[in-house]
Amino acid sequence: MAEQPPNRVQHEGSPSEPVASPARAGRPILVQKYGGSSVADVDRIGKVADRVVAARRAGNDVVVVVSAMGKTTDGLLALARQAANAGLGAGAAADPPRRELDMLLSTGERVSMALLSIAIQARGFEAISFTGSQSGILTNDRHFDARIIEVRPFRIEDELARGRIVIVAGYQGMSYRREITTLGRGGSDTTAVALAAALGAERCEIYSDVDGVYSADPRVVPDARHLPELDCAVLQEMAECGAKVVCAQAVEWARRSGVALYARSTFDAVDVGDALDGADAPRAGAGAKQTVVRRFAPGSAPRARAIVAEANVVLARAHGGLKLDELLRAAGELGIGVRDLSFAGGGGAFVIPLLNVPDWQGARRRLAALLPSVELAEGLASVSVVGDGLTATAEPLARFSDVLARAGITPRLTVAGPLRLGALVAAPEAEPAQRLLHASFVDP
Ligand code: ADP
Ligand code: ASP
Ligand code: MG
Repeated sequence: MAEQPPNRVQHEGSPSEPVASPARAGRPILVQKYGGSSVADVDRIGKVADRVVAARRAGNDVVVVVSAMGKTTDGLLALARQAANAGLGAGAAADPPRRELDMLLSTGERVSMALLSIAIQARGFEAISFTGSQSGILTNDRHFDARIIEVRPFRIEDELARGRIVIVAGYQGMSYRREITTLGRGGSDTTAVALAAALGAERCEIYSDVDGVYSADPRVVPDARHLPELDCAVLQEMAECGAKVVCAQAVEWARRSGVALYARSTFDAVDVGDALDGADAPRAGAGAKQTVVRRFAPGSAPRARAIVAEANVVLARAHGGLKLDELLRAAGELGIGVRDLSFAGGGGAFVIPLLNVPDWQGARRRLAALLPSVELAEGLASVSVVGDGLTATAEPLARFSDVLARAGITPRLTVAGPLRLGALVAAPEAEPAQRLLHASFVDP
């Protein structure tokens, strides 16, 4: 089908021309997002329904974005791999096509949206669930890792005006070619923040199994510190480099739109009187912690805020003859992202994160054919110190390098910028490196 220009896009069930929504009763709009662990079973979905109803009772118009239940997305991905490889001879391997992966994976969030809507209606409240495309989430056409280009939430606004609670399937949208797309792993966060921006919500609450953002992944660094507030730019850098507590594209939307993010735990007690009052940070419930993420004015003192790691990255090195435009064309063709790119004297290096590359077997082969001068090293992880002003003096980089050297770790690549000092290390070295860097930079 021919690509349609943006102003003529038709959505499932939404008008082709923008129409005025019925006036709402002047209630503030609250967007809440619940991740996979929060909706892992019907019992937990019931607890989420109680929380949503409490927010509605407190006088808000509520839009809820949900992830797939528990580890559903991983399970569906494993099924797709089985289907792609069933019946192939020994040693042969095939990648499932990205378009079909999107059709498959987007069903996970549809299950939880319908179950939550049913649970809310059972509590005597009106609710309606929508897919990403019904919610007007328009994306580019990069399957498995699409970017939201525009949000046209007419149907959501109409239903809020009717007094309903709206439940949206996260992590998915529709491309201008009217194809179903998914937004990259962790992408329900992006749905929530993009919707909050489009609806003019004052804040977006991200609920997961952790009560905010910490100075390292608390599963890896047990004495990681809770961060009560954080600048968008720092959190975006953390997310880009592997901190999965909030997805990077979501923070980018928050940064651009000015929507404040509140990262909280679903499992903390709910503060039923949690109405929006505009100025003050709302409370997450007596004694509960949260992280508030906003755009702060620049000028904070240089310091390290967090240690972040990302598993499963590939280092690509070019030994001369590689042109930047060839590399970018190949990356676009293969649907892979590249990071930490540097070129000098005809040679260069870059990093390929594999989180959103479901077809690396084939992509690796095609990359070797398209760019024969490139050599790939796999089995690596990246470890980073994220903060402000990290290159204002030479000391932080010298310390970074010294901490790794004293642990006998030789980085395959080191990068340094004001927001991040990073190293590529062998995968098993990543956990000890995070603990040592945390002890030196965040907990000295
Ligand atoms: P959800 O399914 O609710 O979206 P995720 O599993 O995507 O939740 O994100 C929450 C997880 O992120 C936590 O369980 C934690 O292990 C991990 N995490 C990684 N880095 C951090 C960090 N700096 N602060 C808090 N959590 C982190
Ligand atoms: N279910 C998707 C994933 O597991 C999206 C999300 O959880 O935000 O990546
Ligand atoms: Mg997540």
